[in-house]
Amino acid sequence: MVELESIGQHKRVRNYVGGAWRDISGDEELTSVNPATGEELATVPFSTAADVDEVVQTGNEAFESWSKRPVEERIQPLFRLKTLLEEHQEELAELLVEDHGKTIAEARGELRRGIENVEVACGIPSMMQSGSLLNAAPNIDESAVRKPLGVFTAITPFNFPGMIPLWFLPYAVATGNSFILKPSEQNPLVAQRLFEIISEAGFPDGVLQLVNGGPDTVNALIDHDGVEGVSFVGSTPIAKLVYERAAKNGKRAQAQGGAKNHIIVTETADLEFAAEKTVSSATACGGERCLANDIVLVEESVYDEFSDLVVEEAANQVVGYGLDEQTDIGALISPEHEQTVRNYIQTGIEEGAELLLDGRDVTVDGYEDGNFLGPTVFGNVTADMVISQEEIFGPVFGLASVADIDAAISRMNESQFGNAASLFTGSGADARKFRHEGEIGNLGVNVGTSAPMAFFHFGGWKDSFFGDLHAQGEDMIHFYTDKAIYIERWPDA
Ligand code: NAD
Repeated sequence: MVELESIGQHKRVRNYVGGAWRDISGDEELTSVNPATGEELATVPFSTAADVDEVVQTGNEAFESWSKRPVEERIQPLFRLKTLLEEHQEELAELLVEDHGKTIAEARGELRRGIENVEVACGIPSMMQSGSLLNAAPNIDESAVRKPLGVFTAITPFNFPGMIPLWFLPYAVATGNSFILKPSEQNPLVAQRLFEIISEAGFPDGVLQLVNGGPDTVNALIDHDGVEGVSFVGSTPIAKLVYERAAKNGKRAQAQGGAKNHIIVTETADLEFAAEKTVSSATACGGERCLANDIVLVEESVYDEFSDLVVEEAANQVVGYGLDEQTDIGALISPEHEQTVRNYIQTGIEEGAELLLDGRDVTVDGYEDGNFLGPTVFGNVTADMVISQEEIFGPVFGLASVADIDAAISRMNESQFGNAASLFTGSGADARKFRHEGEIGNLGVNVGTSAPMAFFHFGGWKDSFFGDLHAQGEDMIHFYTDKAIYIERWPDA
């Protein structure tokens, strides 16, 4: 495994507080395990309310001077952070594979998307400006400014441990706040390494801090009076809990939840291209992506042809250890999650869906202890089936035949979720209809996975998101600042 100085010889994850590594005082703990090999990587103790209190107080002390620094000074450590992350990208990608299970190509791509957010946040001097107007009234000039607010926290999930913290962290500190990350307890080692790198970037002590732990740690952060706002990314039930709890405590909150995403394929689409993109969308990262499209609605005139193409493409995916460059589908995060996905496959069979490709018997030589599952494809998935409605979060997807684009959009919009959807078509009219009528946050046309670049916001609709301002880009500046108005009159002027 990539060596981490910060976890020490006993391999216990630590917090990063006020510029130093600190032991965690909680008794509760978890073991982080390499999902492909079963190797124990580190112990993850859970921070107590006392640990959280110390981190929040330190963050507030740091905020006092950090928020007053000139904006040009605040972005210099971000430029250094970008360079450091690029220098360490390969080593971080390897660690990410070891702690998460995805492929090395996916890990590299994820880190690149994270670094792009650091780049965007370096533009804060322009992005943070607000409007001003001379002679807004007789002898009166009026202007609006944005001010940082204090300590913000982000609670992040296991599936993108390198990218998702960077949806928030660079914007929080560039706007003049201090920031505390609480990564997933299932695979916290990338965050641990990220903060080793951050410690070299030149941020003042206490501006960027790391706190490890589980649900009680999260609740201590949300309940703390010294925390101004909470960003959350994870499953829908927890997103809802976090959003409600933060609101009850009078805090700003944005909470991104789970998903059930659709692909629509019309008869005018390039079917081979659509099949290739469908399979990669549904199975990349082992299907553990909030943007994975796993219900495919196909116009009935091309359903059989598309179904053959997609099953052939899926059957060609190589399941294996993520560090092997030829692997397409890596390991799932834990044996428990693998069992959940297997249960969904069983449910699909019992519900009467047609099992077109069964990935349950896959074995990977040399990695018998890994959480592997091969691509699994269902046909004739009807709207009332559990596998059509619930997030599976594995390399499993279903096909359904629909009469036309109207029927497809209507079925897609019935979902309780609204994170992402893609349309494959050769028709501009269908694309326009999809764009206008889709009740979805991220829409793609002839794009397998509609993941927005860092300079656009990232976030879904309906039960995929609670709040108004999304992650990434300009929304982050609004989330991390409040506006004030200055009205000036100088009667002698
Ligand atoms: P999760 O909800 O189990 O955990 C996310 C975070 O919440 C972790 O840091 C965890 O410690 C904390 N947490 C867990 N239970 C809690 C509780 N009871 N109270 C307070 N905090 C708690 O999610 P996960 O399994 O790590 O991630 C997968 C989920 O995240 C999927 O549903 C996926 O769709 C979603 N996700 C959504 C997006 C998006 O942009 N909408 C992006 C990535 C992942």
